[in-house]
Amino acid sequence: MTEEAKGTRAIEEPGLRLGFGLMRLPKLADGHTIDEAQTAKMADMFLGAGGTYFDTAYVYDDGASEEVCGRAIVDRHPRDSFTLATKLNARVAKDAEDARRQLDVSLERTHAGYFDYYLLHSLMLNNHETYDKYGLWDFCRRQREEGRIRHFGFSFHGTPALLERLLDENPDVDFVQLQVNYADWDDPNISSAKNVAICQERHMPFVVMEPVKGGTLATPPEQVARILKEAEPEASLPSWAIRFAASQPGVLVVLSGMSDVAQMADNLSFMRDFKPLTSEELAVIDKARAELSKLDLIRCTGCSYCTKGCPVGMQIPDIFKAMNTYLMGGEAPARRSYGFAVPRAHASDCLACGQCEAACPQHLPIIENLRRCAEVFD
Ligand code: SF4
Ligand code: SF4
Repeated sequence: MTEEAKGTRAIEEPGLRLGFGLMRLPKLADGHTIDEAQTAKMADMFLGAGGTYFDTAYVYDDGASEEVCGRAIVDRHPRDSFTLATKLNARVAKDAEDARRQLDVSLERTHAGYFDYYLLHSLMLNNHETYDKYGLWDFCRRQREEGRIRHFGFSFHGTPALLERLLDENPDVDFVQLQVNYADWDDPNISSAKNVAICQERHMPFVVMEPVKGGTLATPPEQVARILKEAEPEASLPSWAIRFAASQPGVLVVLSGMSDVAQMADNLSFMRDFKPLTSEELAVIDKARAELSKLDLIRCTGCSYCTKGCPVGMQIPDIFKAMNTYLMGGEAPARRSYGFAVPRAHASDCLACGQCEAACPQHLPIIENLRRCAEVFD
């Protein structure tokens, strides 16, 4: 795959086809502070098993993810024993200069010296023009020439037509990052299958994000879990989702946002000696997907991109999580979770201003879904 890559720089195969995503790092008891000791232990396990690819972003945990990455990973391991990816996010920048400054800040926070992979973050229909307007494609090209970044790409949440266009306009990107999981495979809002096919046709390496859909496929509804457990009682539920993503030809690495040592141990157990899904296993996935689509769950991944700037402080992902628990038949725990999620604003407090919908990479009709939640809980 890598020899045929269309990007200007050939990409070396990572040690494992599993990447350590640093978006959902373990937290201390306060629920906010990243547990650095546990993160360091997880990083050591990952590197010890042959993993190399770490992925963070300027905006993750308001910068704390990059800072912890610096202390728990970069400072503790030889720089050439791992590769590091981070991302520039134009949505949170005031202007072009502010956006370009993010690279300096990310280098300072991580102590990395350079980034092996640098991405324009979360491109979609309503924001890609900002990246053009700020000249960020050419900025990344210059940084690649100067060696501050080794490979340049973009993470993507848009339509297949937009993906084609961005790749036509920027044929020298080295890789793309796509949302790929078995639940979203044919979802017209996500278009995983079509976007994967576009990369495959162009021999463009791609990194997978959201393989377990923000945790949904790690703890799927009972009906779905039963299908998977009956097929292979010993296999963990996340293993189905991560192996599905890793089985796609052209995949460079599958990012898993592991949140504790146990999740790291589980992921390594099946990715250390990765085996693509067999045709029988793919048939099981088809059955699981069909069962999942019967439930009208809110397809939220819990990324929290929507919560910044909400004038009433709505905890949207927590409210949607409670609603999904309700839809799966857990009324009492759903009401308890909803109670924890609404210290500041109830679903019915939504002003329908639409800020959150513009930021949602899953293109969810958040206002309409909040109305559904209000009908059930308020
Ligand atoms: S639409 Fe509602 S939830 Fe979304 S940002 Fe506005 S007030 Fe907050
Ligand atoms: S509603 Fe959208 S932006 Fe908000 S947490 Fe869910 S997926 Fe992320």
